[in-house]
Amino acid sequence: MERYADIVLPLAQPVYTFSVPEELGEVAPGRAVAVQFGARKFYTGIVWRVHERRPDFKRIKPLQRLLYDRPLLTAEQMALWEWVASYYMCSLGEVMRAALPSLMKPSADSFEGFADEEFRPRTETYFTLAPGLYDPDRLHEVFEKLQRRAPKQYEALLELASAGPDGGLPPGEVPRRLLQADRTVLHALERKGFMAAAEHERTVERGAALFRLPVLSDHQRQALETLRGQFAGGKSAALLHGVTSSGKTELYIHLIAEVLAQGGDVLLLVPEIALTAQLIERMERIFGSRVTPYHSRLTDRQRSETYFRLNRSQGGEFVVGVRSSIFLPMRRLQLVIVDEEHDASYKQSDPAPRYHARDCAVVMARIFGGRTLLGSATPSLETWVNAEGGKYGRAALAERYGDARMPEIIVSDTLRAARRGERHAHFNKLLLDKLGETLARGEQAMLFQNRRGFSPYVECTECGWTARCPDCNVTLTYHKAGGRLVCHYCGHAEPVPAKCPSCKITDVVPMGFGTEKIEEEIARIFPEARVARLDRDTVTSERAFNAIVAGFARRETDILVGTQMITKGFDFEGVALVGILNADNMLNNPDFRAGERAFQLMMQVAGRAGRRAQGGEVVIQTSEPGNPVVRQVVAGDFEAMARTQLADRQAFFYPPYARLISLLLRHRDPQLLHAAAAELAARLRRRFGRRLLGPLVPPVDRIRGEYLAGLLLKIESGASSSRARELLAAELQDFAQTPRFKSVAVVVNVDPQ
Ligand code: ADP
Ligand code: ZN
Ligand code: ZN
Repeated sequence: MERYADIVLPLAQPVYTFSVPEELGEVAPGRAVAVQFGARKFYTGIVWRVHERRPDFKRIKPLQRLLYDRPLLTAEQMALWEWVASYYMCSLGEVMRAALPSLMKPSADSFEGFADEEFRPRTETYFTLAPGLYDPDRLHEVFEKLQRRAPKQYEALLELASAGPDGGLPPGEVPRRLLQADRTVLHALERKGFMAAAEHERTVERGAALFRLPVLSDHQRQALETLRGQFAGGKSAALLHGVTSSGKTELYIHLIAEVLAQGGDVLLLVPEIALTAQLIERMERIFGSRVTPYHSRLTDRQRSETYFRLNRSQGGEFVVGVRSSIFLPMRRLQLVIVDEEHDASYKQSDPAPRYHARDCAVVMARIFGGRTLLGSATPSLETWVNAEGGKYGRAALAERYGDARMPEIIVSDTLRAARRGERHAHFNKLLLDKLGETLARGEQAMLFQNRRGFSPYVECTECGWTARCPDCNVTLTYHKAGGRLVCHYCGHAEPVPAKCPSCKITDVVPMGFGTEKIEEEIARIFPEARVARLDRDTVTSERAFNAIVAGFARRETDILVGTQMITKGFDFEGVALVGILNADNMLNNPDFRAGERAFQLMMQVAGRAGRRAQGGEVVIQTSEPGNPVVRQVVAGDFEAMARTQLADRQAFFYPPYARLISLLLRHRDPQLLHAAAAELAARLRRRFGRRLLGPLVPPVDRIRGEYLAGLLLKIESGASSSRARELLAAELQDFAQTPRFKSVAVVVNVDPQ
């Protein structure tokens, strides 16, 4: 009987059927294969199904070759891919593109490109203490000698000798990357025969005995017991709602250790790379080489190696990674923790699959029969409603750990300050006074402005002309450093015109303010203060990021000005004051999540202040001191925010009371685009009635020369969203066949953020 295989190719296409030649060997679901597709293009594909049903097209091509010696995907991973493709309305091929490191899916013009890639696990250097020094007396002798003659070598040897699991002798093998000493120092000690180096595969320690777990406070222990009870009672997901610095991470550590000790796998998801470094370090201090990092700053080869190592692993793995790590092979996954679960960066917006890693994590844990823990100080309202309604378990940590106090939050009215002549540059006198006091006490401050650049637009005071991007319908942002006007949507840049190009009378002036301007103003007002800036313009690389952060941590900087980048997870002890320069633009964002996001952002920024006993102060500058969200931030009252926002969501029928699917149409010809949007809207309205809104004009309706139009589908939570997706998919397929609109691209985004 002839056999056939349905193959997933890394394309936005459905699966393709190939014939399976007898001699090819074990062709099974999950295996990678090389196939010829089109006249002279070769791709890596994944075997999805093997069957005996001959497809009805004539020329069925054979599979060319099996790649790698084992399946790349487990049955559970395949189930996850299928869920992602169906829920987010994309092809399995698009999931494949996001899920596998690119080295693992070569494509080429010939078979030459398919040399079977070998991804051996990386080796690392390990140091051990010379056996002669296991004797404490002898070691002491050596220490004494080195301490006098070679203090650096003394420190290095001391570090190695005390690096063991319980500080005793012998310390065992210690990976090079955990030792601080320079290469030359280690070499010297090797030469003298005090330590030995060996190169081998990364070892993964087994057993729980090695983990030095933090001792929990009573509150923390209670929360941990609550979570354990809820998981044991059958909840597959739970929310850990804990204020910043309450010790959520310490709780994670306990749960992680438990799973690892039983040989299960753990995935800890973190929102952004900037944070991962700190968290990975913290986890390595507890779990050593058991920690496997996974993020975009690894090379593609490192990612492939990690994939293959996990693919062969027998369990007991601990991955700390960003959103795409949900696609890693973890056979014995028992626990997924999503830290800062409310963070919008868990959602991939472009390209497809437009998946939300938190929601995938919940589904994934269900597929594996494992558990998901969602942690946040300001949970998303979706998660909050699930916890309130009893669908998820939950536990709370209402206080900061130890004697750290919550900061005091002060609202400062910008309009009133202006009326009283108490406004200088973009600062109210109150904030400047507090900054002055902070600097005088030798403490640090952070200033938050959620806009980068110098000013968001330049304007002619004579005729009102503003500089706009030629390709996008937005104003250009003035960046003083390069003396240029830059488009934040497409990157277009041009010099600032000397005279207004329209009336040719006056100069154009920068209006509004971004981080660059704040930095300049603050340096002028406090010339003696050391000021640094953290935003996408100063953070050109991981190194630049680390340098700025490390400088602030070592207190070489007094004031750190920044965008969202400064809000996340940093634990700086010296920060006594946090200033939020303009809450208005967060509050007035035309988005149904604006209130929730403003609250999250301000709470998070505020959380940076006074992580230690002395407490701290937060000043929020706004022209709307009476705004309910501002009041809720001051009171630190998450539940009040949730109540008011949820009432609005219910009244206007937004998530979590409805599911949204947004459609974005794009074309260079505005007439054609608008005709297409109207036609698609009419067709969908026939199916969905009042659930369909639009055509809508997006906030930015032209990007990179293409015009944009939007449609929005709101499906009530009670209704079957899978049925809605089926209907929508059928309509979209029809629409794509309509000759007149063939060239109009339609992007589908399920649960847009
Ligand atoms: P969160 O993750 O909720 O922001 P962390 O877990 O980072 O809080 O804890 C904040 C700070 O308090 C950290 O420096 C952490 O080491 C410390 N801490 C929290 N709980 C404990 C504990 N039980 N023992 C020792 N230190 C703790
Ligand atoms: Zn542009
Ligand atoms: Zn003008």
